[in-house]
Amino acid sequence: MGMGGKNFVLRLVRIRFAACAWVIVISLPMDILSFLKGPFRSDGNILSIGAREVPVQFVRNPRARRYILRLLPDGIARVTIPRGGSTAEAARFAGRNVLWIQRQLQRQIERIKQPRTWKTGDEIYYRGTLVRLEAEEDEVSGCGWVRFGDQRLRIKETNADLRRSVEQHLQKIAFLELPARVMELARQHNFPVRKVTVRNQRSRWGSCSVRGTISLNWRLVQTPESVRDYIILHELAHMREMNHSPRFWLEVARVCPDYAVSERWLKKNSKLLR
Ligand SMILES: [Zn+2]
Repeated sequence: MGMGGKNFVLRLVRIRFAACAWVIVISLPMDILSFLKGPFRSDGNILSIGAREVPVQFVRNPRARRYILRLLPDGIARVTIPRGGSTAEAARFAGRNVLWIQRQLQRQIERIKQPRTWKTGDEIYYRGTLVRLEAEEDEVSGCGWVRFGDQRLRIKETNADLRRSVEQHLQKIAFLELPARVMELARQHNFPVRKVTVRNQRSRWGSCSVRGTISLNWRLVQTPESVRDYIILHELAHMREMNHSPRFWLEVARVCPDYAVSERWLKKNSKLLR
């Protein structure tokens, strides 16, 4: 809503950027080259940096003396617009600081510790319940099985780290279930969803583009179903309010009255994203 103007601004910046890119290309290393090809996409306020999509948020602050760029913990680049400033200038400012954003992103990723291994006897979340991973070997075939909750999957080695296999299995469940659930809730509340993607993300539970694409983290099959539905409804609400303004939260409360309970659960279990 009301994003058309910013959209246009980003497109202008993209042209500016593309026009000057070839001059500096020759002396830059590969990773920088990859994003020079298209730092801006006009898919809402999205900066494409390398393979990553960084949402950009503009916030006015009359007390600010200059444009300020910050990378928020959830991976959103926020540009503060000072008194008398404009969104157009803020977008240009973000465009000039793409390298800085990329460096901050890299730092953010490095801060996230290596995921720990999963072995038999460990407990993981599945649909909001802690379930034990039980690996067992099939003596005839030499293969093995892992069980958790009502799930069972084949594995090659019962003593190895089970995390990869179990996560792949959870992803499969997510691919089957999440898009269908989005469509169901979208129908129920009248949101015109065009596309649903399921992603492997470490920093966020979901996102929404102005073009009507909802992206969800496969780990939502690990949260309680009420939390999963809240995240879906949160992203759907962004189709009406592309921000976190009081109006947005009113819309969330309208479609998901108990959302605060889910927010608390997510806060308490934020390590699920690690
Ligand atoms: Zn949001």
